[in-house]
Amino acid sequence: MTVDPHRLNIHLAKAQPSATYRMMDRVAARRASGAKIISLSAGEPDFDTPVHICDAAVDAMRAGHTRYTQVAGMRPLREAVAAKFQRENGLDVGWQDTIVCSGGKQVIYNALAATLNEGDEVIVPAPYWVSYPEMVQLCGATPIIVSCGSANGFKLTPQALANAIGPRTRWLILNSPSNPTGAVYTRDELAALAEVLLAHPHVLVLSDDIYEHLIFDGATFYTIAQVEPRLMSRTLTMNGVSKAYAMTGWRIGFGTGPRWLLDAMEKLQGQQTSGASAISQHAALAALDGPQQFISETCSVFEQRRDLIVELLNQAPGLTCAVPGGAFYTFASCEGLIGRATPAGTRLDSDEDVAGALLDEADVAVVQGSAFGLGPYIRIAYALDDDALVDACRAITRFCHSLTGKRHAGA
Ligand code: GLU
Repeated sequence: MTVDPHRLNIHLAKAQPSATYRMMDRVAARRASGAKIISLSAGEPDFDTPVHICDAAVDAMRAGHTRYTQVAGMRPLREAVAAKFQRENGLDVGWQDTIVCSGGKQVIYNALAATLNEGDEVIVPAPYWVSYPEMVQLCGATPIIVSCGSANGFKLTPQALANAIGPRTRWLILNSPSNPTGAVYTRDELAALAEVLLAHPHVLVLSDDIYEHLIFDGATFYTIAQVEPRLMSRTLTMNGVSKAYAMTGWRIGFGTGPRWLLDAMEKLQGQQTSGASAISQHAALAALDGPQQFISETCSVFEQRRDLIVELLNQAPGLTCAVPGGAFYTFASCEGLIGRATPAGTRLDSDEDVAGALLDEADVAVVQGSAFGLGPYIRIAYALDDDALVDACRAITRFCHSLTGKRHAGA
């Protein structure tokens, strides 16, 4: 018997494509056919990368920095990354304790791929960013989804964590501020989770801090290795320039963690993509070492947008939206729309139906909450200017008003 030439890797065959990218592709297809879509689907800042960062990239190209760098990143950038972790997160690390990858996603994937084996488990609090469970699955391990509902602000409780940990648990993934809910863990909440983790020394912690700087209401950002230094030796703290400096397309993520883990990630990366783009690394260096006011300026713009969008969405019949503490997402319950029908006759039996009908019939793109592990919700990325946000909310509200038929019982 010969092998089917189309046979895929079994883990890839089981995996779902990225729901965020799928929606972005649908938006692109609708736009290509002439539709005017307001997209609240992509999780990326709408600002341009600051000029001094772009200039640093141009200068780097002109100066001939167009060759390979070391796999784990060029030393000046690793020094700047270490300085960032010291300065902003109180983590006592040197440049050798860091790694630079092609985007935050590669930091996470490399860490998981470097450590997971068949039968291993990874605790993923839900709602989660769409890629965590899929990455775990791609590595042949099992995501253990722990449901964290709105009653606890979509956050993992110490009790739920303790219940989820077993002998096969390799990792806990934490993400604050959260994609998709915008939930922010306080220092005390992280300390309480750390207390549980201290009793289970076999569990590694991956702290995805990519939204660190998008935090509102005067709150302070904390990361778990800072709150509980005894976890440093088994925590990978990851971050990147994408969200803080509007650099999503430059693809630079970085992390700090124990050397054995970083060495394994570097070995993997050396056989895979090598070092991240040299030009992007120079740009990231300018971002981390240069003026930082872009961060506070954009954060206050996002905070105002949050206030605007939460107020407007809560006026849409059938939607309920809590006030998120960070990131640039709101996660709105659309339970009140389930069971109803659009004027075009589309029945809304799930949040996926709601997201599909909003795109096809109201020209507004959002991502269904079930892709993030909790339905019926929709994730709304408010990374657009006020006019576009007001237009989008008007279209959503009109859509909600136009529905006919009864809600499902309990909805
Ligand atoms: N992280 C962003 C989002 O959630 C970008 C797309 C992705 O990587 O999922 O929309």
